Amino acid sequence: MAVIAKRVRITGIVQGVGFRPFVYRIAVSRGLGGYVLNLGGSEVEVWVEGSPEAIRGFLEDLRSKRPPPARIEELVVEDVRPNGYAKFEIRRSGSRVRVYSQVPPDFGVCSDCLREVLDPSSRWYRYPFNSCAWCGPRFSMMYGVPYDRRNTAMREFPMCEDCLREYRDPTNMRRFHAQGISCPKCGPRLLLVNCDGEEIRGDPIAEAAKLIDEGYIVAVKGIGGFHIAALATDDEVVEELRKRKRRPQKPFALMALSIDIVKRIADPSEVHVKLMLGAERPIVLVPKKPGSPVSDLVAPGLSELGVMLAYTPLHYLLLRETRDKFLIMTSGNPSGLPIVKDNKEALRKLAGIADYFLLHNREIVNRVDDSVVRITDGEPTLIRRSRGYAPLWFRLPFKLKNKVLALGAMLTNAGAIGFDNYAVLTQYVGDCDNVENLDFLLSALDFLKKVYRFKEDVVASDMHPTYPTTLVAEALSSRNDISHVKLQHHHAHVASAMASNGIGMEEEVLGIAVDGIGYGLDGQVWGGEALLTTYTEFQRVAHLEYIPLPGGDRATERPARILAGLFFERMGEDGVKLALKLGLDKRLPGGTIELWVAARTAASSPRASSAGRFLDAVSALLGICWLRTYEGEPAMKLEAASRGGTLVPGLRLEYEAKGEQYVALVGDFIMALVDRLGREPVRDLAYTAQYLLGRALAEAGLEATGARTVVVSGGAGVNDYIVKGIKDSARGRAKVLSPKGVPPGDGGLALGQVVIAGLRG
Ligand code: ZN
Ligand code: ZN
Ligand code: FE
Repeated sequence: MAVIAKRVRITGIVQGVGFRPFVYRIAVSRGLGGYVLNLGGSEVEVWVEGSPEAIRGFLEDLRSKRPPPARIEELVVEDVRPNGYAKFEIRRSGSRVRVYSQVPPDFGVCSDCLREVLDPSSRWYRYPFNSCAWCGPRFSMMYGVPYDRRNTAMREFPMCEDCLREYRDPTNMRRFHAQGISCPKCGPRLLLVNCDGEEIRGDPIAEAAKLIDEGYIVAVKGIGGFHIAALATDDEVVEELRKRKRRPQKPFALMALSIDIVKRIADPSEVHVKLMLGAERPIVLVPKKPGSPVSDLVAPGLSELGVMLAYTPLHYLLLRETRDKFLIMTSGNPSGLPIVKDNKEALRKLAGIADYFLLHNREIVNRVDDSVVRITDGEPTLIRRSRGYAPLWFRLPFKLKNKVLALGAMLTNAGAIGFDNYAVLTQYVGDCDNVENLDFLLSALDFLKKVYRFKEDVVASDMHPTYPTTLVAEALSSRNDISHVKLQHHHAHVASAMASNGIGMEEEVLGIAVDGIGYGLDGQVWGGEALLTTYTEFQRVAHLEYIPLPGGDRATERPARILAGLFFERMGEDGVKLALKLGLDKRLPGGTIELWVAARTAASSPRASSAGRFLDAVSALLGICWLRTYEGEPAMKLEAASRGGTLVPGLRLEYEAKGEQYVALVGDFIMALVDRLGREPVRDLAYTAQYLLGRALAEAGLEATGARTVVVSGGAGVNDYIVKGIKDSARGRAKVLSPKGVPPGDGGLALGQVVIAGLRG
């Protein structure tokens, strides 16, 4: 029999996920000799020798049967001369030079672990911390690299004999060298306490479930932080939770026991289901089902519910014992502050929110919030990139010249580091307008610096002069005597989307940034921009017309101010009369007086070319939402109100050349919209405004540049109808790319900052 040999190099998520015992198993089952070896740098080397058929079968298994969280990015097979290996072995990682080792993210519980937890004859029966090589926490419990038990919070829990035996058994695919394994004998424990820290007797899970069913609010320690659990079907409970969290409108996420339960409350498509079942287990925005038992107060004014599946055995066991089998599971944090992760801190900071606390004694090392995904015009888009995704790196198709530390902007922020051909975003941090979140940002960056032995030679920030992150960057640059690069917000947005799509260093694209607020080169607020962009340079070729923001931030909070200002600028006193006729005074907390002030101060107010502010104004005009209580609220509700809408014939959003640039005339459009009020369904008017916004920017940008590639980014890049408008105008002229694996909003900005600052000379 002919013996041949192959050397296979596999790159991707192949370390810390049980890849070596898996390779061992499939090689031995086909009678092959050779070895498997971790190389570092997220690379595994396999040597196999045996008959050609056996090797072919092995390579098929390698691709099709891999452990669920493993991801193969690259697989290179090389013919080699057989070495006469009689046996197959798992080799120790040896003394090879380690390049960089990727930090694995947290994985949702696998079906095998869940099966063990539900099997009365298993030694993991009802064990809330069961995990294996294929699943369980990673990043959230790591102090450093490599991913060995001694570098994780599991070092406090020495393995019992049974666990140790399985850990050492190479034929045990799921537990051989699985760093996080434990059992009821040796692992972490649960404890249920009241607000005073007094233990509640009985089975903690059963008691917690009972309390939740009775309408109590329970804080639950998970893997990346605390959740607040409460009934989602009881208006009174939801209202009470809103009061305690001081969160009048912002949607709460739900957690469901299974896909069957999800289908009881929402209408998931196949793509939604696939996203929900992925090892990342994100919150997925799914259309709400008509007649859904979920309280309307969970996501007021929105057409979608944020739903995730139970992603640890603890969650599963808890949900299973509740009556609904789905619950509100919102982040456990005081408004605007980082998610709480320690027991004592929880009792202190969540005391005003939760009645009871379901705690455990494993430390959460790195706090990491739930990720959020939605489908935008058919494609998955990340809204928040955190648990399950962070801190995976992005491989760039070029090498960076500088080592960059990037601090992002301000709202829904994340930071990043960049070196060689890697960019690594931190987990989601939140709004960096307070000291706590700034501290969180810096410590998240410190973790990355430690594991990649990274020291920056450039620090990058937004060019907004008063963002706290800009000021911190300034301080870092002067303290360490390194340069500080200040970057235009939307250039960074577009660069982020470009890098996530692997666009090459020399390429030029038309970047369309549909965004809220970003500091412009002219000192005004930008946010509806078409930019001819490379990684290092950009040129503004088209933008939305500037509209007034009377009172600055107040106009963002109360978008009817924008309308009052706009009408007055165009029509003088008649504009005020129009505003009163439309009842805009009733959409302002300060009534007629506020309306007057807004109109009269328009001329001296800041001005914005922002897609977000345009959408806000339309939302207020159509009577959909006129008070913003959370970021993006009027625009999100506008999109929700457009479901099933169609284009209103004759309504147009024109653009014209002004100097060097095209300007999309949103003021004229809003006046035309006023004429149609009451004559066309709100749904269609709402739809038309968003669709035409995307269309106008894309048309103008394409006409100005003739670009063949359009890249969409910015916070409103998740809006179905804007993206559809962009795609429709590009059809047949240019391809349209959306950010891949990175949020189009400010949570993905630092990736762009790293790349721009890393490539500039
Ligand atoms: Zn598992
Ligand atoms: Zn054990
Ligand atoms: Fe932005």
